[in-house]
Amino acid sequence: MVRRAKHIGLYGVEQWGAGFFAIGPTGHLHIHPFRDDRSVDLVDVVQRSAEQGLIPPLLVRFPQVLQTQLEHLYNCFDEAMSEFDYRGHYRSVFPLKVNPMKPVVEQLIRASRSGAFGLEVGSKGELAIALALQLPKDSWICVNGFKDQQIIKMVTAASGRDPQMILIVEQLREIPILAREARMQGRCPLLGLRCRLNSRGSGHWEASGGESSKFGLGSSELLCAVDTLQARGLLDRLQILHYHIGSQITSARRIKDAVKEAARIYARLRRRGVPLTTLNVGGGLGIDYDGSRTPSDSSVNYTTLEFANNIVYTVREICGEENVPLPNLVSESGRALTAHHSLLITNCESRESDVPVNYVPAITTRAGGSATVMKGATREQSAPAQIAEMEAIAQEISVKNFREYYHDAVATRGEILTLFDLGYLSLEEKALAEQHFYQICRQTLTFARQTGFTSDEFRVLEKAFRTKYVTNFSVFRSVPDAWAVGHLFPILPIHRLGEFPSEKGILVDLTCDSDGVIDSFVDVRDVKEMLELHAGTNGHPYLLAICLLGAYQDIMGDHHNLFGKPAELAATYTEGGFEIDVISRGETIREIAHLAGYDPERLQHAFAKRHHQASAENSDALAYYTALWRSPSYLEGDPESFKNLP
Ligand SMILES: *Cc1c(COP(=O)(O)O)cnc(C)c1O
Repeated sequence: MVRRAKHIGLYGVEQWGAGFFAIGPTGHLHIHPFRDDRSVDLVDVVQRSAEQGLIPPLLVRFPQVLQTQLEHLYNCFDEAMSEFDYRGHYRSVFPLKVNPMKPVVEQLIRASRSGAFGLEVGSKGELAIALALQLPKDSWICVNGFKDQQIIKMVTAASGRDPQMILIVEQLREIPILAREARMQGRCPLLGLRCRLNSRGSGHWEASGGESSKFGLGSSELLCAVDTLQARGLLDRLQILHYHIGSQITSARRIKDAVKEAARIYARLRRRGVPLTTLNVGGGLGIDYDGSRTPSDSSVNYTTLEFANNIVYTVREICGEENVPLPNLVSESGRALTAHHSLLITNCESRESDVPVNYVPAITTRAGGSATVMKGATREQSAPAQIAEMEAIAQEISVKNFREYYHDAVATRGEILTLFDLGYLSLEEKALAEQHFYQICRQTLTFARQTGFTSDEFRVLEKAFRTKYVTNFSVFRSVPDAWAVGHLFPILPIHRLGEFPSEKGILVDLTCDSDGVIDSFVDVRDVKEMLELHAGTNGHPYLLAICLLGAYQDIMGDHHNLFGKPAELAATYTEGGFEIDVISRGETIREIAHLAGYDPERLQHAFAKRHHQASAENSDALAYYTALWRSPSYLEGDPESFKNLP
């Protein structure tokens, strides 16, 4: 048993974990899928996967977390409606773009309430999937986004039975197409209008709402749509008013402003005779990724219950004032339902310089035979002088003089690099000077930390000397928002959490892209530039979890540098243990090459042919080549080493 030390709070698990994450008594990270005592030890999940030959990187889903989140959302609206005596009905519509993966959608469907669920689709692909899924009784399919005739034809044809088709009009030009289809097919879906609010969201996706928004109808367009529908005899089908001001709305105030404006529009349209029954408040319910409970980009300053309360209370107030019936409520919360349910477990190793600290390059030959560039006597005199000076600084630097000595070292290094460029220094000499210089930098950093001295210059130095942890994943594949919008995701080791993490560093992924790094980490007060990690792995793999990946990351991840999807599994808590279900063993090189337009068979054939001609006696290359096609794209490891983790 490991004593619970103070540093346990270092990773902020209690803050961002939302009750789903906790550090167990043996220093392992546990998932509590029901937010109670029942938990699954992530180290056990890795060990069990290794027994099936699957090793990190592993994308692990917890279907029960999805269930808990959906039930929580229902419960919050139940509670808000009963608190404010709201006579109306709430429906949760899941937007497929947030996570269209089959195991995710199927689990949400399983966990949903009949008569209170639906799917939102915004593209042909999503529509094709939604139309065939087995939804609970009396579900909705809300069709948003830009629509052509094909989409409108399809939605019209599928209307009039369960699930109910809802066409959300985003642009006036959809109406004549719809009217024609309705007349020709003799049926019409239920209709909604997406209004463009003046209030905007907040945070990264702020620009997706407001007047300049890509979507929705402004006030005069709304009125024009109503008149057009009336003229076409379709006004009785118009029952829903919808808005969506952007994802991850970070402040409760923005949510209130938006619902206030929309409720007012609802009431005014109602009074004008539009038979609206429902207000669909879209998505935007945010997640506290850093645990700070602030309106900073990766956080939110409200809870799901406060979100529900704000909406229910505001709509009731305004409808009371305007004396119109209360609408049923729909939300299209996607991020809030899915973010917590999945995480990536992967292994990493620090990449300090591989040169042993006491390695001294043997200086035998100096500047080779390139004597022609060496004019005068400078070579013999100044070159050693700079190196000797560097060595002297390294020996004499102290807490009293480090600022001045560090500056001297930077100047001397400049001279040394010039001398090397001009051919006056050997590579061995340059290497020696470099060793001294790095030592000076490290000492400077220690002294600066000791004395609490900071300056821009030393911050840059601190950054340059951050230990880099080579981590077996691709940022572009598994955490695309970290790269695309600088989004923060909680990251921490899944084991050794009872030990003090004495090292700090940043994570670099396997891609040959300098953007393939994670160098901002969640912190309750600030954003950390380095993550605390443990020293010395004792030959064991060192495993990290990148958490809260369930919203948007799955399908936005790409194949940059030809890294594919990692192996994927679902872990389900059972009485006294857990079960794992392998969803996929990960994309192989073969599948990835195929995506890039290659025919794997042909390539293998071509290699075999060429290779056979070149060296008939060596068949190893061919065997290796065949094996390469079958392998995953990540660094390989020995499953045995993952079966017995500290
Ligand atoms: C993306 C989207 C959502 C999902 O928003 P979240 O913030 O993930 O809940 C909901 N509705 C529409 C129309 C969307 O485009």
